[in-house]
Amino acid sequence: MSLCDQSLPYVLAISPYQAGKPITQLAREMGLPVEHIVKLASNENPLGMSPKAKAAMEKAIATLERYPDDFALKDALANHFGLGVERIVLGNGSNDVLDLIARVFLAPGRSAIFAQHAFAVYPLASLSAGAELIAVPARDYGHDLDAMLVAIRANTRLIWIANPNNPTGTFVPYTQLKVFMQAVPAEVVVVLDEAYNDYIPPTERTDTTSWLTEFPNLVITRTFSKIYGLAGLRIGYALTSAEIADLMNRVRQPFNCNNLALAAATAALDDHEFIARSYALNRAGLEQILAGLKRLGFSHIPSHGNFIAFKVGDAAALNQKLLKLGVIVRPLGGYGMAEWLRVTIGTEAENQRFLEALESSQAL
Ligand SMILES: *Cc1c(COP(=O)(O)O)cnc(C)c1O
Repeated sequence: MSLCDQSLPYVLAISPYQAGKPITQLAREMGLPVEHIVKLASNENPLGMSPKAKAAMEKAIATLERYPDDFALKDALANHFGLGVERIVLGNGSNDVLDLIARVFLAPGRSAIFAQHAFAVYPLASLSAGAELIAVPARDYGHDLDAMLVAIRANTRLIWIANPNNPTGTFVPYTQLKVFMQAVPAEVVVVLDEAYNDYIPPTERTDTTSWLTEFPNLVITRTFSKIYGLAGLRIGYALTSAEIADLMNRVRQPFNCNNLALAAATAALDDHEFIARSYALNRAGLEQILAGLKRLGFSHIPSHGNFIAFKVGDAAALNQKLLKLGVIVRPLGGYGMAEWLRVTIGTEAENQRFLEALESSQAL
């Protein structure tokens, strides 16, 4: 008898997460110099991290023999959002927080709802908890909130929503989202994943944290991995009711965020200059890549994030050609979008390299 037979059947049924190919791995595979490779595969910030975060981390190196103290970051977040610290849960990346929510509310015999083409961590977290997964067909590649309401069953405890969604870049208007929240039964938790919130034009942005008092079943998640440029440190958080935060903290590992991440995130939160620069670079880059895709004849999904999904036909073949040219993007086969690739917005030079590689791949 194999050890696998002894495992939980729902763990055995999970397909592992496929990360963007690391630069060093492609360098080894293709025999390319690392400097020649452009990675636009994981929605990372092409400007790196906030200089303030870097300085804070250098200082925090002196505290590494101590167990982490998360007070300063929680306090900074509480001030930033005007919320009590009892509503904040920190995570080792926001993926950690998503997992905590699943562990609190999901189990075999319960179900969770998510949208077709939505972020891969929702099925991972739901299935790891043994819950049944209800995938609701997308509308124009985005969340169909009406259909998601209809999909709610007596045993449904959780609904996952990414706004904007990764990998499609689609966005549900806040008015629709609020009507949806009002219609969801009070005993069903709604996770609103706003990892890309900072890329929405400020004039179009609604502060959903102001909804938390009206909806005690709402969990908003945010991350320092995207516009704050701290993906490698793994730090994110949830904002929710004090009751849900308390439950999540019961299953959280006591020291799930490390000293360097806590220090960097606290400093990054207030580096408005860096955020503004990252936002502006993304806007310009979106236009640059959209113009290029249009010129080369590719269709795309309008994106509200720092990436664009575009349709190429044989995505595996084109991806291989791009890799040979030292350009890493993300194939979306795992998302049920076999003919699509997703490119992250880079610096102007990186975007240019991507478009040139795309053009020469077409000619191959
Ligand atoms: C990148 C991303 C996150 C962030 O994950 P971290 O664990 O914080 O790095 C969360 N949700 C979505 C939809 C994402 O694309």
